[in-house]
Amino acid sequence: MPTYDYVVIGGGTAGSVIASRLTENPDTTVAIIEGGPSDIDRPDVLTLRRWMGLLGGDLDYDYPTTEQPRGNSHIRHSRAKVLGGCSSHNTLIAFKPLPSDWDEWETAGAEGWGAVPMEAYYARLKNNIVPVDEKDRNAIARDFVDAAQGALGVPHVDGFNQKPFSEGVGFFDLAYHPENNKRSSASVAYLHPYLDRPNLHLMLETWAYQLAFDGDRATGVHVRTKDGEEILVEAGREVLLCAGAVDSPRLLLHSGIGPRADLEKLGITVRHDLPGVGENLLDHPESVIVWETDGPIPENSAMDSDAGLFVRRDPKGRGPDLMFHFYQIPFTDNPERLGYERPAHGVSMTPNIPKPHSRGRLYLTSADPEVKPALDFRYFTDEDDYDAQTLVDGIKIARRIARTEPLAGWLKREVAPGPGITDDEALSEYARKVAHTVYHPAGTCRMGAEDDELAVVTPELKIRGLTNIRIADASVFPTMPAVNPMIGVLMVGEKCAEMLGGDAR
Ligand SMILES: Cc1cc2nc3c(=O)[nH]c(=O)nc-3n(C[C@H](O)[C@H](O)[C@H](O)COP(=O)(O)OP(=O)(O)OC[C@H]3O[C@@H](n4cnc5c(N)ncnc54)[C@H](O)[C@@H]3O)c2cc1C
Repeated sequence: MPTYDYVVIGGGTAGSVIASRLTENPDTTVAIIEGGPSDIDRPDVLTLRRWMGLLGGDLDYDYPTTEQPRGNSHIRHSRAKVLGGCSSHNTLIAFKPLPSDWDEWETAGAEGWGAVPMEAYYARLKNNIVPVDEKDRNAIARDFVDAAQGALGVPHVDGFNQKPFSEGVGFFDLAYHPENNKRSSASVAYLHPYLDRPNLHLMLETWAYQLAFDGDRATGVHVRTKDGEEILVEAGREVLLCAGAVDSPRLLLHSGIGPRADLEKLGITVRHDLPGVGENLLDHPESVIVWETDGPIPENSAMDSDAGLFVRRDPKGRGPDLMFHFYQIPFTDNPERLGYERPAHGVSMTPNIPKPHSRGRLYLTSADPEVKPALDFRYFTDEDDYDAQTLVDGIKIARRIARTEPLAGWLKREVAPGPGITDDEALSEYARKVAHTVYHPAGTCRMGAEDDELAVVTPELKIRGLTNIRIADASVFPTMPAVNPMIGVLMVGEKCAEMLGGDAR
């Protein structure tokens, strides 16, 4: 029975940070249990622009959603099965969460997680966070930026992380190495340089299937290795659950930690009744508008969605309430199911809901750990219809931008939803039915105050009612940041490492 001071379950975005920081102290031993293989010598993984090739492939857990009566039931949630986790799979758009995002966490009971104390963790990140390089700035994306600025009067932002913003358009910051388009993922930045540390033990292609306890104290985790051997990996100090917003609650539920009635219904022995596990499932849904361009567009790009726009419709709001990615490709995967065609050459704008009101739920349908959990995002089910209206407003704003030069001159015709669809009801129907995810599930083990019955972890990331076990990944988010979440996850990792007393400098 191998024993380490810390057992990190999931060598993904947050898990890589924590294991790296803890092993800076040579006297601290750490094992990483990672379900996927290494990303080393894998150009298909390490080359940022190849990200789309990973969707639905061997390195993707590929979770379906349940039937979404008001949304798109065909959405597949990619979750990466490889060292570095989703940071080895994603587009590496790098946004420091806005001060209003962190302050919202603090208001939700996450004491100590407000904007002022969180600032320090951004400064510590080891990832190479840089603006999209000049050579990667495609002419049509530049013209999108100018057209959006002209049409809406929003500021042109060069460096979204330099100061807080509530609106603006520009090229993103990315965590990448522009000279060779290599990812600066969590594994590249936090693990690759330190793999020779004798106190860091990597168990790859190894699946954690049940947590081990002595009473309320976590003692380790039962895993199945690459060769099918089942062993218990013991943690002398703590178990750190970093398996992500789908797999962290999944492992808790299979270990008897979750809502009592749900567990009993499936015949799972209840270890600890914790009703919040799997609740508060958040995401950033977005829709899509597609144009055919007048011929091919230039090829250069960092990852085909290098620029974006933030709009604040509510002047009283602290942050943006509508976001757009601009894709230099015709992103028609979902519209095609409704009968739309994919033009040979085209671009897309994707209106996105920074602060969605709908809340979903993750739950088990079987006691068999092999069966994937159910993900019911309850997209567009909020009572005030805020989420759907955000997308409707987004399509109208996108059309204003498309009519404005210098972008207008590139565009031949609107392919989807098409110029004939103009009234709010029809736009809403279209926007919801072709909605996709930008793969930001979060919130399923949310952090909250010690006495919050529905919180899963305390502000120290400790699981309420248990000892020697914390969770650190996107599942602990109490609310969704208005911006893309990866940097927030890395910062959760840094703060967790500091709380554990690692030499986090
Ligand atoms: C295609 C895609 C594009 C995205 N684009 C962006 C973007 O541009 N910018 C942005 O900010 N965010 C983006 N995101 C979201 C962002 O990547 C995630 O929110 C973040 O990386 C999640 O980090 P995590 O630590 O919570 O989980 P992960 O990084 O997913 O780590 C979980 C790890 O745990 C492992 N694991 C899970 N269960 C087990 C188990 N039982 N046993 C052993 N190992 C296990 C997994 O293999 C994985 O390595 C994107 C995500 C995807 C998938």
